[in-house]
Amino acid sequence: MRETSRMENSFPTAHCAACARIVLTCVDFDELGERRRCVHCDGVVESDPHWIGATELEAAGYQIGAPRRTGGGCGSGGGCGGGCATRRS
Ligand SMILES: [Zn+2]
Repeated sequence: MRETSRMENSFPTAHCAACARIVLTCVDFDELGERRRCVHCDGVVESDPHWIGATELEAAGYQIGAPRRTGGGCGSGGGCGGGCATRRS
C-alpha cells in the first residue's frame, strides 16, 4: 500500500475560468456546503483540486512563506495603537 504524503502535496490548485490559468484555491463554506474558490478573484472553482507540493507551487509563480519586510510595520513609531493602519484613510 502506498502512502500519500499530504505534507508534501498540500497545496490545492485548480483551473480558474475567470483567471484562465491554474490557480491556488482555498476552501469556503456556504449553504451548499464546501466550495473551492480562487485566491485571486474569489470565483468558485468547479474542477477537482490538484494537490501539489511547495516546489511545484513555487514553479507556478507562488511564493511560500511571508515576503521579507522592508521596514515599516509596528516599529515605524507610535506603536500599534492605530499606527499599523498605513493604508489610505
Ligand atoms: Zn480566479
